[in-house]
This record gives sequence, structure tokens and C-alpha cells, in this order.
Amino acid sequence: MQDLKSIQLYMLDMDGTIYNEDTLIPGALEFFKLLQAQGKQYVFMTNNSSKGKISYVEKLRRLGIDATEKHIASSVNATVMYLKERKPGAKLFLVGTESLKRELLDEGFEVVPLGYRGDDIDYVLLGFDTELNYEKVRGACFYVSRGYPYIATNCDLKCPVLDNKFIPDCGAIAKMIELATDRMPQFLGKPERTMVDAVSAEWNVPIDKIACVGDRLYTDIAVGINAGATSICVLTGEATPEEIDGSDQKPDYCFDSIKELYEALL
Ligand SMILES: [Mg+2]
Repeated sequence: MQDLKSIQLYMLDMDGTIYNEDTLIPGALEFFKLLQAQGKQYVFMTNNSSKGKISYVEKLRRLGIDATEKHIASSVNATVMYLKERKPGAKLFLVGTESLKRELLDEGFEVVPLGYRGDDIDYVLLGFDTELNYEKVRGACFYVSRGYPYIATNCDLKCPVLDNKFIPDCGAIAKMIELATDRMPQFLGKPERTMVDAVSAEWNVPIDKIACVGDRLYTDIAVGINAGATSICVLTGEATPEEIDGSDQKPDYCFDSIKELYEALL
């Protein structure tokens, strides 16, 4: 745990941390202005691999926050880093959206057609596929049940939508495939430390000068703990003081909201 004032880069969760759906949480704008004035950096982290970075940039700008694609760290970054370290240009069987496919092609990977059954693929890659169909599930099961390396962008079981309701996220799709194949993938987004490592390398900031800020203990706080970064919980989303008391994933700092974090940095 570091003194907050020594933190150089904040990695922030978005929903429940800086906004709720389309409403900024009070103090968020002041927080980012203060970081800019103090010469500190910020990056937004998301486990959602179904949407391209530009959709986050547009939303943040609409809410008045300065952001470019460089400011978005998604589970796709972590996945790309993982694959590049092991097999640049890997041949992938993908269960994912068209936007994820484009990102992978841009990074030099090969994505085989859905009907492909050749024995030379390197990985089955599962994302939060909001364009899922049975052809993709069938192909994934073909390779997964034959023991091919199997990775997934994020472990989240459910994704919040309007009115506090949920839809199945990447982890839920993995559960469905597990029922048919008895295998689960290796997950790469939060809480795996890969996302923090990727940001540390890209921004050239050492891990001990990075803080992870979020409202969920098992992803936002756990990723900070797993990476050896400072972890900061805000109580404007999922986590409650009771949950923190009962958890072994204790944040280094806890604030009622980003406003109190902002005030601590003044
Ligand atoms: Mg959140």
C-alpha cells in the first residue's frame, strides 16, 4: 500500500465507480481535473470484450471526461498481451463479436472461419459474445473437448443492463460450454493481473505507482491485489461495508465515493 499522493496512475472501473449508467457520480469531473492539474494519469479498465474502445471514449466525452482510445484498457488488451507473449500471429477459433475479431486481426492474429475443423489452431478464444450463435458454440466445443488451449477474455457471469437486470456475460457462456466439455477456460481480464501489467508497460509507470479503483471486490479490488498495486474501493456500486468486512479481498483504501477520493488528493 502506497501513500495516495505518491500514486502516478489511476486505473478506474467505470460503471458504479465514475458513473451509474448515464449519470456521472458527483466528484468524478473534479477528480479527473485534479489529476490533470497534478500531472497524473488515468486509464479506464473494462472487462467487456463485446464493444470497441471507441464506444467508451464517446461515452466518457459525452459525460465531459477527457479520454482517447489510449485511455481504455480492456480485457482485450490483456488477451492480446497474453497471446503475443506466447504465440504472435496465433491461429484462433473465436467465439466473440465482430469488433473483437477486427481488433485481433489488427494485432496480427488469424481467426479461422466458423466451419473450420483443421487440427492446426493454437487457441480457442472466448469473449463476451453478444452476437453468439450455435455455430460458434459447436465449433468451440469441437476444439475444447479435444484439449486445445482455451482462454477467455473475462470471468464475469453477468453483465448489468437497464433497471438492475442482467444478461449472460463471458463467464456464463463458458459455463454453458463447460456443461458439454467438462472444461473451463483460463480467464484473462480482471482479476488477473495481466491487465495491470499491460497498462504498466504501455504507460511506463511501475506497478507500485498504480492504484486500481472500483466498486467490485472480486474484480476491481482483486486485480489491484493480484498485481501488487494499491487498491481503492468506492461504495457507489456493488460493494458494501459489510461485504468488505467479510471478505479476504480487502482494499487498501475505501471511500464513500470518488468525491471523497478527490478530497483526499487535494
Ligand atoms: Mg463497476
